[in-house]
Amino acid sequence: MYYRTYSDYLKTKYGEKVYKLPVNLPISCPNRMNGNQGCSFCADVGTGFEAMSSGMSVTEQLNKTKEKISRRYKAKKFIAYFQNYTNTFMSLERFRAYITEAAKVEDIVEISISTRPDCIKKEYLDFLKQIRREYQIEIHFELGLQTVNYHTLKNINRGHGLAEFIQAVMQVQAYGFSTCAHMILNLPGDTLEDAVEGAKILSALRVDVVKLHSLYIPKNSQLYTQYNDGTITLCSKEEYLERLTEFLAYLSPEIVVERLFSRVPEEYSEFSNWGTSWWKLRDEFEEWMEKKNYRQGCRFHYLNGAALDRWELE
Ligand code: SF4
Repeated sequence: MYYRTYSDYLKTKYGEKVYKLPVNLPISCPNRMNGNQGCSFCADVGTGFEAMSSGMSVTEQLNKTKEKISRRYKAKKFIAYFQNYTNTFMSLERFRAYITEAAKVEDIVEISISTRPDCIKKEYLDFLKQIRREYQIEIHFELGLQTVNYHTLKNINRGHGLAEFIQAVMQVQAYGFSTCAHMILNLPGDTLEDAVEGAKILSALRVDVVKLHSLYIPKNSQLYTQYNDGTITLCSKEEYLERLTEFLAYLSPEIVVERLFSRVPEEYSEFSNWGTSWWKLRDEFEEWMEKKNYRQGCRFHYLNGAALDRWELE
């Protein structure tokens, strides 16, 4: 295997295949408030294309999807995945109610909360600690970073920098919850060096999982306008594969990789994956790894006083 896959990780952790059930809440995001249009790549539906209506209760959404998946794959264990927008951007009271509802649904083994690094607070984490104890459910945080280049973070209007991400990861890790970082390796303005630096910072922070997205351009996003008026250009597929393979080479072999490319329904996007199918991209990625003789972590020799190992010191 070229990298540590998420499905294998879940199978080892839970003893069998585990399926994610997306939950869509009627919430927003601090980066989309007060006339702010949010991240330049954010579509007006947030990021959850497959989500159910946020008008349905958490229990209803989970049970409906669970039923479908159980019938199809004979699945028995599930992750309640609070996916869309910023899932801690609400009062503690409301947060408590949604999470407790999910914890009570049968066969849920993990609650996964997708949020922004500037929306993590002690009181919310304390409550999740109680939930873990009471229902024997694992807690996982998905935190958007996208790039470690703070100039790019500013240009894409993320509304936070690298420091907020570092602190959020440390806060969540202190509770023993697992963390996943979302990264985009082909943001306009970024280079191969940014991708490598991203792998190094995530390795130093010891996040558990990395979810990689190739940048796509949703219709109704600021990026859509910038792309069409020529303000931004996107790197080639070959450049993306170069960044992706180098990113994985520098990434700690302990970190699980959940995804390598985005999967977006065509009707939503102006540009995605260079017009190449997901399967074809995956084959090309494997050819690149083979050609370079790369495996995840093959260049992971830069932490823990690495310079001292390179010299015969007296
Ligand atoms: S943080 Fe997420 S929901 Fe908020 S604007 Fe950015 S992509 Fe959209």
